[in-house]
Amino acid sequence: MARLLDWFARHARDLPWRKTRDPYAIWVSEVMLQQTQVKTVVPYWERWMRALPTMRALAKASPRKIHKLWEGLGYYTRVRNLQRAARIIVRQHGGRFPEEFAEILALPGVGRYTAGAICSIAFHQPAPVLDGNVIRVLTRLFGIAGDPRETETNALLWRLAERFVTEAANGTPRSTRRATQREVRSPQSAVRSSSPGANCSHLNQSLMELGAVVCTPRRPNCRACPVAAQCVAFRTGRVGEFPAAKPRPAATVRRFAAFVVECDGRFLVRRRPAGGVNAHLWEWPNVEIGNGGADLGTLAQTVLGAKPKALDALCTIRHSITRYRITLEAHVVALGRNRRGPPPAGRWVTPAGLERLPFASAHGKIRQRLLATSGKPREDDDGTSRTE
Ligand code: SF4
Repeated sequence: MARLLDWFARHARDLPWRKTRDPYAIWVSEVMLQQTQVKTVVPYWERWMRALPTMRALAKASPRKIHKLWEGLGYYTRVRNLQRAARIIVRQHGGRFPEEFAEILALPGVGRYTAGAICSIAFHQPAPVLDGNVIRVLTRLFGIAGDPRETETNALLWRLAERFVTEAANGTPRSTRRATQREVRSPQSAVRSSSPGANCSHLNQSLMELGAVVCTPRRPNCRACPVAAQCVAFRTGRVGEFPAAKPRPAATVRRFAAFVVECDGRFLVRRRPAGGVNAHLWEWPNVEIGNGGADLGTLAQTVLGAKPKALDALCTIRHSITRYRITLEAHVVALGRNRRGPPPAGRWVTPAGLERLPFASAHGKIRQRLLATSGKPREDDDGTSRTE
């Protein structure tokens, strides 16, 4: 453990959330980091902390603001749960982040990992963490062959993680002092100054860091690993065997057509309904078209309620979400001026207004392409006019 902490003291990445022990800031970083890479999260976290620096600011923020700040990170249930939890903390705890593990675990969107990360990093409590990085390190270090998702192996891994962090707690005076916005100069200096060297925050972070930068899924850098001498997988030449994994289910391919309709300098967009995928985010009118040939004119008429005069390909966006491989084909549509029937449902928005709305990821890429080809938006008004 001492080697691991010493390695962390010398090699920890200088990440902005490591310079604070504010539980709110640490919580936001942990939620953003779920399913998302560190280098992607850094600018999002910095922007979020400037816009919503406190629990009360998050609790009061409009849905549009929190979705806009999260736009592009995906898995938007996370941001809605953050706000639900912030409102509970303001209502039940006066805006102070609770320190009890059970109270933190009871918050919306908080699981055992996130509660453990907050308790250990912000409050220096001996709460274990077990994410993909820690699982990889522990299964290799101890040569654990079972599938980490199976109950028995998973429980064993949690016990090991708990043992590590408990030993760390016993190796250094435990501090439960509430940290506010107290800054430390750097993670390295913070670790070095926590004599005699071990504590819960740095132990948990060192396990996660080792998995992220040294004990990587492919081609781990065992020569640079501080625990190589103790590592069962390395000593027995079986690093590639751990962690055991079930084959992933086959990906499902889906194909959609999206329609970009302009009228008098405004574009037609829709907000996704509550309760579904990407709820509350904005998108272009679209329809799933399957893999066979599809008559785009007929599809556009079905979606927009009017037969298009012209259809021009704009771009094709490919993206993956969970097991879906999605292709979104965007077309610019010209509708006839003398069309009959009700206007298509949605909101007509100027280019400047489009930039202010939080879009679902793939649809945001269509917006980028559209604005790049049509020039910068004009900041002429609030950008929207409702027809729904
Ligand atoms: Fe991972 Fe290699 Fe270190 Fe073992 S020696 S913990 S496999 S990096």
